[in-house]
Amino acid sequence: MSRSRLSPIDPGRLAFDIDGVVADTMLVFVRLAHEKYGLSRLSKQDMLCYNLHDCLGLEKEVVDDLIALTLDDKHTREIPPVPGAPEVLAELAEAVPLRFITARTGADAIAEWIFSILPTVSRSKITVIASGAPELKLGILNELGIRYFVEDRLETCRDLKAAGIEPFLFEQPWNRDQPAPGCIRISDWMELKEWLLPLDAKLG
Ligand SMILES: [Mg+2]
Repeated sequence: MSRSRLSPIDPGRLAFDIDGVVADTMLVFVRLAHEKYGLSRLSKQDMLCYNLHDCLGLEKEVVDDLIALTLDDKHTREIPPVPGAPEVLAELAEAVPLRFITARTGADAIAEWIFSILPTVSRSKITVIASGAPELKLGILNELGIRYFVEDRLETCRDLKAAGIEPFLFEQPWNRDQPAPGCIRISDWMELKEWLLPLDAKLG
């Protein structure tokens, strides 16, 4: 779907997933796999499906352990942001409040992480909601009146599209080679910025 066929989006009706969109969470998984299990050849590019049990060829217990470690409070603090995300979000926050909906079960650690990457943004302009499961995002988005959602999980994008929300699929190795009909693919934050902050061009 080309951009020219769509109306400019209203950034006030936009929200973001966190892991895989704002947070480069799987880099921590890879580092832990190297450090704890000696899996030195593993890279993010090997993550060709969202369910890591299905594509890494590792024992279930190893994947479960690495996921649990990656998402715990200590390692959450160590996650690097996706390049460009802090800069674009800080600029966006000058115009609208920022809303983040994660499928994590708890919001506290990842909310602190969001605050830490956006030191210039007032905490009062940031909302972080943990849905606890991907399927529960839709109801929250509807309650908040969200119309556009940036997400890396293909199935969630498809479900949101079917429910009338416009998904932006943030490209990652686990969604890159799979069809995403009706979803707007975004390859990085510079491209996303062109969608979210066209105000510069219009007002300038
Ligand atoms: Mg995600």
